[in-house]
Amino acid sequence: MIMKEKAFSKQSVRRQLAGEGLKPKKGLGQNFLTDDSVLLDIVEAAELDDNSCVLEIGPGMGVLTRELAKRAGKVVAVEIDTTILPILEKNVAEFSNVTIINQDILKVELDALLKEHFGDRPVKVIANLPYYITTPIVMKLLEETNSIASVVIMIQKEVAERFSADSGSKDFGAITLAVQYHAEVSKVRDVSPECFEPVPKVWSSVIKLSLRGEPPVKVLDEALFFRLIKAAFAQRRKTFLNSVSATMGQDVTKEELRDILVQLGLGESVRGESLSIEQFAQIADEIVQKKSKKDEKKKC
Ligand code: SAM
Repeated sequence: MIMKEKAFSKQSVRRQLAGEGLKPKKGLGQNFLTDDSVLLDIVEAAELDDNSCVLEIGPGMGVLTRELAKRAGKVVAVEIDTTILPILEKNVAEFSNVTIINQDILKVELDALLKEHFGDRPVKVIANLPYYITTPIVMKLLEETNSIASVVIMIQKEVAERFSADSGSKDFGAITLAVQYHAEVSKVRDVSPECFEPVPKVWSSVIKLSLRGEPPVKVLDEALFFRLIKAAFAQRRKTFLNSVSATMGQDVTKEELRDILVQLGLGESVRGESLSIEQFAQIADEIVQKKSKKDEKKKC
């Protein structure tokens, strides 16, 4: 039978840290979860069973790790902070299915790590992330391996809004398109600062990323597609035409880009944030085709 979730209380977090002569490390984003209902919502959203393979990032003192270990087949938890390990190890000592790895997640060879611990089985990533490196961690999870099936993470609320934004909204940007290219994003819940010890300045959200089997758009040149997206949002106050032509001169001239916009029925004053992922894909493919025509002409 699964025990009812019990987060550590604020007092218990302080007591456990003090017992090892520690204080929360702000620089490592250490805000420890102290709310039972949030803990329950995270594990429920992950939909675990006895066969589940779980990667946890930043287990800290192990409040979430314990709940994952009760429900999953195997949990691998990567924690950078060596000094917190005695507390973590004590808190998960009763579980034989937890492996702790003392490393920086950004320096881990992710695909090799997942293959080593889980073989070819699909992996669920679950974490209360260190907020200072949310985007690099998420992009690493999305780009460096095909083993991940889903990601349930707590992140800063504003960042969650960027990940799930619709085109046309102020939160829509390069990171929205990069995340939504790889995954469907859904919000699980918002979380008040009071749910952590120490209490952070910002609100949080729990979100779920369900990795797509196929991207929502097929493009001729993925690298160019992402270069175009980056260029479109590099100078947010400029129009798409000016922002892109300022940085993608080697791929497309301003005149060619203007022609493409007209051809696709988009005005030349259109802005990156009002274009959909499909429109980015169409523009990227037009650039590729124009480029290859130019290359052929050069050869003749
Ligand atoms: N999971 C715990 C909880 O919910 O209470 C702790 C979450 S705390 C927001 C983030 C954790 O990530 C901390 O334990 C911190 O030391 C760890 N961390 C920070 N940077 C990291 C990195 N680069 N690699 C792995 N862990 C990291």
